[in-house]
Amino acid sequence: MPALPESDRFPELLDVVDRHWGFKRLRPLQEQAMRAALARRDSLVVLPTGGGKSLCFQAPALLRPNETTIVVSPLMALMKDQVDSLRAADVPARHIDSSLTDAQRVQTFNELRANAIRLLFVSPERLAMPNFLQFLQQLGVRTFAIDEAHCISHWGHDFRPEYRQMSSLRASFPQATFHGYTATATERVRADIVAQLGLRDPEILVGNFDRPNLCYRVLPRSRMLDQVAEILKRHPGEAGIIYCIRRKDVDELTADLRALGFAPQPYHAGLTGEERRSAQESFRAEKCDLIVATVAFGMGIDRSNVRFVLHTGMPKTIEHYQQEAGRAGRDGLEAECVLLHSGADFITWKKILQKSAEENNVDADFLPNALGHLEEMSNYCRGVSCRHKVLVEHFGQGFESANCQACDLCLGEVDLEPQSQVIARKILSCVARVKESFGVGHVVSILRGEELERIAKYGHDKLTTFGLLKENTAVQVRDWTYQLISMGVLTQTEDEYPILKLNPTSWEVMRNERQVQIRQTAKHSRSRKTRTEEDAWAGVDRDLCENMRRWRRETAEAKGWPPFAIFSDDTLRELARVRPSNLVNLRTVYGIGEAKLNAFGNDLIGIIVPYCQEKGIAMDQLESAPRRVTSSDRPSASAEAYFAHFRRGLTVEEVVQTSHRAVSTVVKYLCEFIERERPANIDIWVPPDLQVLIATAADKHSAAFLKPIFDELGGQVSFEMIRVALAHRGNRP
Ligand code: ADP
Repeated sequence: MPALPESDRFPELLDVVDRHWGFKRLRPLQEQAMRAALARRDSLVVLPTGGGKSLCFQAPALLRPNETTIVVSPLMALMKDQVDSLRAADVPARHIDSSLTDAQRVQTFNELRANAIRLLFVSPERLAMPNFLQFLQQLGVRTFAIDEAHCISHWGHDFRPEYRQMSSLRASFPQATFHGYTATATERVRADIVAQLGLRDPEILVGNFDRPNLCYRVLPRSRMLDQVAEILKRHPGEAGIIYCIRRKDVDELTADLRALGFAPQPYHAGLTGEERRSAQESFRAEKCDLIVATVAFGMGIDRSNVRFVLHTGMPKTIEHYQQEAGRAGRDGLEAECVLLHSGADFITWKKILQKSAEENNVDADFLPNALGHLEEMSNYCRGVSCRHKVLVEHFGQGFESANCQACDLCLGEVDLEPQSQVIARKILSCVARVKESFGVGHVVSILRGEELERIAKYGHDKLTTFGLLKENTAVQVRDWTYQLISMGVLTQTEDEYPILKLNPTSWEVMRNERQVQIRQTAKHSRSRKTRTEEDAWAGVDRDLCENMRRWRRETAEAKGWPPFAIFSDDTLRELARVRPSNLVNLRTVYGIGEAKLNAFGNDLIGIIVPYCQEKGIAMDQLESAPRRVTSSDRPSASAEAYFAHFRRGLTVEEVVQTSHRAVSTVVKYLCEFIERERPANIDIWVPPDLQVLIATAADKHSAAFLKPIFDELGGQVSFEMIRVALAHRGNRP
């Protein structure tokens, strides 16, 4: 008998996911991961943060009515949050840790014996207790899910010695299967997980590491506080994390931001345990939306609706950057990752690393390795090719899309100085003229022709380079100088008062043997809304969304749950877009399973219906626009499906018929398709003779407006055709 198609082997799977979680589809690799668990095959599932790893062990556990799956999780706070979320979705889950009262513990053990629990969350330490192991053996446990499995490897960034004790679990549970879940991107750590957990012929599933919903930007750091404030203003009422390199930067920035009226909480290893716990807890409970932190703020954060991560300085490796920036947008909605960078960061890190190498007894290759990583990170900051591409390729995966539509470079926010070479030579000659004996501030003042006593004192106002860049602001000239330093075109000494020195590369530039490219100093207003962002908010009533968010926060507080255990932001947005007026329509919304429908359905209807009636807004917009961006959605959400039709040569009318979308929508995608893929001809969509007429009219009038062209053609050619023809000519009205 032929084997059943794989998706049919557990027909209940999708049903269970919809019933409990309200998800209508599985994300890439989730189904394979679930099938491996159900088929009792060891597995290692590597998905990026937000990829949906938890569901991979949660859903199969529900399909095993006679078993308890043991989930190993590194942090108590994470465990409790997951259990709360599961119970909200009517999944019988419990955790055992030292916070339980005796009565709770006894009850949990009784429920386990009565086979009433599908998922039991425990710490690795508990699994090392012989009595507890014996108890699990008596229960007949056959499945272990090891979350954050990279903690078992000391090559990883979060090594936890307690995880190592799990290496011996296999011997105690020879019949059991083991499943590791991690977001770690390095090959070495993965191999180590397989070896340490003793996985047998594991199914290894590695997802796509790109995070298409994140928009990456790197800005030269100039007026840092202004830059930070500007980014915060872009995200009113939204959650964000600001990372600083040093503790003192955290304290200073926290104070500065408070003075500006923001309400950040600081977080670093110098605070007391209680202070840190409280910052983390208020962030989790959405009582505080802004954390200023060192990298110490990390693993315990399970808040999925972080809308921006801002680095005020360069992290020390790309892995760290990926980890930290990756805390944004775990819910799959758009989020922004901004890195403020200066050439000085390299030097700061170098000093920190050198000091750490001196103070600790490190391997001989520690420092060269660390500096190599620093160099890579610096290259990322200075780079001029797509940031998604650089990050994904760094982790050994390919990146197909020519334009990610979600980084400063692909969005066209970064311009290069047309006069880069001239500017660089002016700065370098000034360094030469002051005999390589002064720092950045002094050189910048000379170039700007500032009438200062310290300049006159050295006779530097007589130099030929005095005032060479007087048309430019100090911020610009300083930024350019730091760019030259980070490019290695100019050297800054590491003294207490660093001095600018020339190096062999400087001379190559001065002799015009080497070309340099300088980025224009950021024009802040140019940070655009990304397409992802626009898609994600299309049709959403923001005030309604905010009302429901408030309700969620209060309800979560009353129940002692984290807000996301009730609904994700994605679900709230979808509700504010669809605005269901009754329970039947409510159930169709993403993220609303049966348990939540029963628990909260009436509350939601009670918010939505009066709001819409009062404002006169339509309800039950079930045909809502696509809103979630996944890797497969590139080049833009949902566009790819249309592109496939156009590639096959379907006409606009045919695509309208198959997609049930308006002509204007289809034409919008067609123009996008033409602009991106540049088909050799567009004769299927605009007859050749009309193309000629449109081109003639467009040449006569500005192609920036459609109406004059339309009029010129006597109203005989539709706006849609004109639009398509102009897209083909490379004009975008
Ligand atoms: P990870 O552990 O991989 O970082 P999570 O398991 O926390 O990711 O999932 C991230 C978010 O995605 C959660 O809010 C989760 O509920 C949601 N999610 C997971 N799977 C799906 C799915 N198939 N459809 C919609 N949302 C999903």
